[in-house]
Amino acid sequence: MTRVFSGIKPTGHVTLGNYLGAMRRWAQVDQHRADSLFCIVDLHALTVDHDPARVRRLSRQAATLLLATGLDPEVCTVYLQSHVDEHTRLSYLLECVATDGEMRRMVQYKEKAARERERGGSVRLSLLTYPVLMAADILAFGTDEVPVGDDQVQHVELARDVAVRFNQRYGHTFVVPRATRPGVAARVMNLQDPTSKMGKSEDSGPGIVYLLDEPDVVRKKVMRAVTDSGRDVVYDRESRPGVANLLEILAACTDGDPEALAGAYASYGALKKDTAEAVVEVLRPVRAKHRELCADPAHVEGVLRDGARRAREMARPTVDAAYRAIGLLPPV
Ligand code: ATP
Ligand code: MG
Repeated sequence: MTRVFSGIKPTGHVTLGNYLGAMRRWAQVDQHRADSLFCIVDLHALTVDHDPARVRRLSRQAATLLLATGLDPEVCTVYLQSHVDEHTRLSYLLECVATDGEMRRMVQYKEKAARERERGGSVRLSLLTYPVLMAADILAFGTDEVPVGDDQVQHVELARDVAVRFNQRYGHTFVVPRATRPGVAARVMNLQDPTSKMGKSEDSGPGIVYLLDEPDVVRKKVMRAVTDSGRDVVYDRESRPGVANLLEILAACTDGDPEALAGAYASYGALKKDTAEAVVEVLRPVRAKHRELCADPAHVEGVLRDGARRAREMARPTVDAAYRAIGLLPPV
C-alpha cells in the first residue's frame, strides 16, 4: 500500500493556504487511498523566534484542526513530531549525508533567514538544517508520497536526493519519496499582497484568511482583497496576480477551473462576492467540528498518544536499519 506522510508546523494559526494546498487533500483523498501519517511538526516551529506557551497552544490547536478537517484516527496516524524520537535520531545521520551547500540553496532558508535578520534577530542553526529534519520525517516511514503545497516541493526534492545518496553509499535503506501537489491552489497568495504567499507565520493581517475566522471576517477579507488595475476578469498569474488568486481560491472551493470561471464573471465585485461565500461554505463544517472537538480535549490527547505509539513502531525498523548501514554497531 502507498505510504503517505505530511505535516504542518505550529508556527501560527492555520490558514486557507494550508487547507487548500495540503490539509484538505489529506482528509478527503490521501487517508482513504494510502497508509497515511499526518504530523504536527513541532520541532520545526523552534527554528525561528518562538514563544514556548504559544507553540504549545498552537500544537494543540493544529491537532484539533487536523481532526476537524476530517482526518480519521481509525484509518490514519496523527501525532506530534516531538513525541517520536526516531525523527531526530535519523536527522543526525542524514546531516552526515546532506551538504551545507544544499542547505544554503533552499529558497525558504534564504527568505526566512532574511526575515529573522530584518527583525534584528540572529539566524538559528536549526533553520539552516530544517530540511534535513524534514527529510528524516519523510524517510523514516518509507514514504512514497508527500502531499504538500508548492513551497515545500524543493524540500521534498532534497529528501529524494538525500535518500538516493544514502542508498548508493550505504546500501538500499530508504524508499525514494515524491511530492504531490494539488491541481489548483498549490500556492494561495496573500490577499493584500498577491505576489507573496499566504503564510501562517506572517504577521497576522487582513491578507490572510484563517480557518477559524468568523464568516463575516472571511467575507470582509475577501471583499477587500487587492485586485489588479484592469477591469475584465482574466486568469493570468503573471500580469493579474490578485484576480488569479481569487479565481484559484474559488476554483478550489467549488471544484471548478480558474480559466473557465474567469469567463463567467464580468466584474471583480461579483467574483469577490462568490469567492467569499465559497470560502465560508468550505470552512463551515471544519469550524463546526472544531468547536465540537474543543469540548473534548481528552479525545484529542488520546488520538495523539495512540498516534505517537503507532508512528514509533512504524519508524523504528527503518531508522535502526539506517544506523546499521551507516556503520554504527547495534547496542549491546
Ligand atoms: P510558515 O510560514 O511557518 O512556513 P506555512 O503557512 O507555510 O507556515 P507550513 O506548516 O510550513 O505552513 O506548511 C504546511 C503545509 O501547507 C505545507 O504542505 C505547505 O506547502 C502548505 N502551504 C503553506 N502555505 C500555503 C499556501 N499559501 N498555499 C498552498 N499551500 C500552502
Ligand atoms: Mg511553510
